[in-house]
This record gives sequence, structure tokens and C-alpha cells, in this order.
Amino acid sequence: MKIVDLLKSEKICISCELFPPKQGTELQNALEIVNKIADVHPAYMSVTYGAGGSTVGHTAAVARAVQANGIPALAHLTCVQSDADRIMSVLQELQRGGIENILALRGDLPQGSEVGEFSHASDLAAFIKRQGDFCVGGAAYPEGHPEAGALDKDIENTKYKIDAGVDFLVTQMIFDNNVLYNYMFRLLSAGINVPVVPGIMPVTNAKQITRICQLSDTKLPPQFRAIVEKFADKPEALKQAGIAYATGQIIDLLANGFTNVHIYTMNKPEIIGGIMYNLSEITK
Ligand code: FAD
Repeated sequence: MKIVDLLKSEKICISCELFPPKQGTELQNALEIVNKIADVHPAYMSVTYGAGGSTVGHTAAVARAVQANGIPALAHLTCVQSDADRIMSVLQELQRGGIENILALRGDLPQGSEVGEFSHASDLAAFIKRQGDFCVGGAAYPEGHPEAGALDKDIENTKYKIDAGVDFLVTQMIFDNNVLYNYMFRLLSAGINVPVVPGIMPVTNAKQITRICQLSDTKLPPQFRAIVEKFADKPEALKQAGIAYATGQIIDLLANGFTNVHIYTMNKPEIIGGIMYNLSEITK
């Protein structure tokens, strides 16, 4: 099933992300997580691709396990420091596993390294589209990508992805829905009207969320920061508050016309389980 068709349907579509272990490490735990998350019926599951291809075979294996549960998988793929032959072999492996949805990403360039054959995600998206009947997604940054300098410049660059054939966009995590509403207005003004899936990260660990936000240049609104500070030393309370905050964000998005939301689960089935439980009447 092509994910863009799910996203364009009227149905509420709550999806989630998981990350596989590094190549050469045990896969069993990740496969058990897939099965547990499958029990709460996300619309699709995306599987990340480790920096520099460090999870390559495991991304494909976890994506296959997702599909074995009857749930469409979205395999992430990065192109930085890669080349056409390597990308081609990953695409063939995905195709053999029946995976037709790919999130085309550039990836982060390690300091001091050279860009490979593909400079940007748009180059990778165009390449994938030439290789077969894939549904291709791209990343979007409601607060602007850190390297772009200005949000309008980043939106101009996002247009290259759409021109390359990207069918839908998934956003970097947002904690303030108003940031997203403002971004949507700018995307539409720039002529970008593919489905945009807001990314929601339920906070479960104070240190982790601070580090992730610093790395991705994501701002934390005061009401969210207050929760993190208040419950930083009470992990179970923080988890409960994180699930409640994420649920509130999702309900606001749904009330304002969004039908698609992507949850960054950090491989914790109880997090997406809690959110799905909170939304059980709303998603019916
Ligand atoms: P690009 O679209 O290439 O953008 C990178 C920068 O270049 C931006 O500043 C952009 O404005 C600019 N730019 C883009 N196109 C052009 C152009 N044609 N000309 C000039 N400038 C241009 N990383 C991983 O390693 N593995 C993952 O699985 C992964 N999953 C992710 C999922 C989501 C939803 C998101 C939001 C990010 C994910 N990332 C992942 C992180 C991502 O790899 C980094 O954010 C990376 O720095 C940029 O990737 P991109 O695909 O947006 O790159």
C-alpha cells in the first residue's frame, strides 16, 4: 500500500517511527518491539536508517517485520557519503522485501567529510523515482533546517524535493502547534501542497529531549519546558505527562483539520499505546 494514498484519504492516520539496532548487533529485541507496536494498529511504521548506513540490512529486516504484521512500512534511506551502486543495492533489497515506501533523506555529514554522489535529498528522491514505482517521502522543518539560514530559504529548498517527485513530507518534531500552522501557511504560499505529516515526540526522558532539541535546533515552548523541569527526576510521572502533552497536541491538530500525525516512539510501545488509548474514541 502506498502511504501517500493513506495520507490523502479522509481517515485519521496515526503512524509511528522506530529505529533498528546497528548492523552486527542482535535484531530480536527490535522485532519484538515491532510486534508490540503492531498490536495498537498504527496506520504505518517508519524505520530509521542509521547515520552512514550503519543499520542498512536491519532497516530492511525491521521494515519486512512491520509488513509481516499487515502494516505498511516506510523505510528511511540516506544518501550522504553513498553512491548510486550502494543506493541501488539497498533499493533492490527493499523491493525484494515488498517495501514500496521510502523516506528519502540526505543524512548528516560527519565533520570534515566530503559529500558523496548525492548532494541533497532531492537528488536521492529523483534517483529512487527513476528506479521503480516507489512512493517517496521527504523531511520538512517547520523551524527551518539548521543549515539553511532562514526558514524561507529552507522552504525554497524543500520545493526541490517536490520537483524531484516527493509525494509527501514528514516534519521534524514540533512541540508548539502554532509553529506548524505558520509553516503550513508558508508552504502553501510557496506552492507546496503535498500531504504534510506533523511529527510529535512524546517526552519520556528529560536529558534526552534537551539533547535532541539542541541537535535539531527545535525550540521548547514554556509550558512544555515546565513539564520537563518539574518531572525530570520522576521518570514515570514524566512519561505520563509526556503522553498527555502529546495527546493534547494531536487533538489540537485533528481539531484544526490535520488527519495525519507521526509519533516518534523512541521504540517504546507503551508510549504509542498510551496515546492510542487516549485517542480511542477520536480515531474511531
Ligand atoms: P536536504 O533536503 O538535502 O536538506 C539539507 C540542507 O540543504 C537544508 O538546509 C536544505 O535547506 C538545503 N537544501 C536542500 N536541497 C537543496 C538544494 N537542492 N540546493 C541547495 N540547498 C538545498 N537522519 C538519518 O541519518 N537517518 C534517518 O533515518 C533520519 N530520519 C529522519 C526523519 C525525519 C522526519 C527528519 C525530519 C529527519 C531525519 N533525519 C534522519 C535527519 C536528516 O538526515 C537531517 O536533518 C539532515 O541534516 C537533512 O536531511 P534532509 O533529507 O532534510 O536533507
